[in-house]
Amino acid sequence: MNILIAEDDAPSRLMLQSLLTKWGYTVTVAADGDEAWRILCDPVHPMLIILDWLMPGIEGPEIVRRLRVREGNNPHYVIIMTSCSSDNSVTLALDAGADDFITKPFNNSELRARVNVGCRMTHLHETLAEKLHKLESATETIFELARTDELTGLHNRRSFNETFALSLSSARRHGHPLSLISIDLDHFKTINDTYGHSIGDLVLKEFSNLLKDMVRVEDIASRWGGEEFIIMLPNTTSEAAAALAERIRSTFEQQSSSASPLAVTASFGVSQLQNDDNEDSLIRRVDNALYTAKREGRNRVVTV
Ligand code: GH3
Ligand code: MG
Ligand code: MG
Ligand code: MG
Repeated sequence: MNILIAEDDAPSRLMLQSLLTKWGYTVTVAADGDEAWRILCDPVHPMLIILDWLMPGIEGPEIVRRLRVREGNNPHYVIIMTSCSSDNSVTLALDAGADDFITKPFNNSELRARVNVGCRMTHLHETLAEKLHKLESATETIFELARTDELTGLHNRRSFNETFALSLSSARRHGHPLSLISIDLDHFKTINDTYGHSIGDLVLKEFSNLLKDMVRVEDIASRWGGEEFIIMLPNTTSEAAAALAERIRSTFEQQSSSASPLAVTASFGVSQLQNDDNEDSLIRRVDNALYTAKREGRNRVVTV
């Protein structure tokens, strides 16, 4: 464990340094408060600190105050050392944010015991900070997984619904257009029945990759379930959405016919948010457009 000693009195500094070294610690020394602060501003620096109260430059309590302001999950352990033994010096040091306090002249075995406590606490802080970091990234992963469709990597229905509600109210507030594209792969049951479920899965992934490539970053392409997809397009009129749907339709048709005999196509419904719409009515309308596309022969885009 590396310990920083900040002490302006050279004999005291040397004595502390030799004691701590003898007890197995690595020691970094600073001869005044400014030097101590410079060391503490290095990205890598000791986390256990013994600070003299009175030093030229920044004084001990001020260094602790500054440290506490910028401290994150892994706080420093600070022991303040002083020869002034006024009644409230302990209170002042602890109030400034110090973890412990030693008066000079100190008793060697007391110093050793207190530094050992600091060492234990520093290890504890480090372990906790590491665990917290792992927990944070695990939470992030869980959050991500809960909103992602496992097979295709698209947004899932939960993620779509969350974003949909927000985007809808934002579109309404700012008077911006918003459109939906609802998609269903044609005769997909036949693909499964003819080539097997795993080939069916591959087709779903291929189609999803096409969607990811063709939509803008602010669009939300999601798997609604099975072989059905829905795309939300903020700031987009139904004309622009229909043009995108047509590009997706024709690209998919070309891609899958070149992978013959797997000639899969898709049908599309398109609709734009109207003044009297809520989430359900807009989804109902875009689904009706999709059913019309199916009824009229599939592999086409219908706008309502
Ligand atoms: P239509 O053109 O009318 O939409 O016909 P369809 O055959 O696509 O429609 P239907 O609803 O009868 O069948 C949908 C098929 O999609 C049946 C189901 O097995 C398949 N499916 C749903 N989810 C998955 C999946 O995750 N993987 C695979 N491989 N198939 C799926
Ligand atoms: Mg001093
Ligand atoms: Mg379907
Ligand atoms: Mg289908």
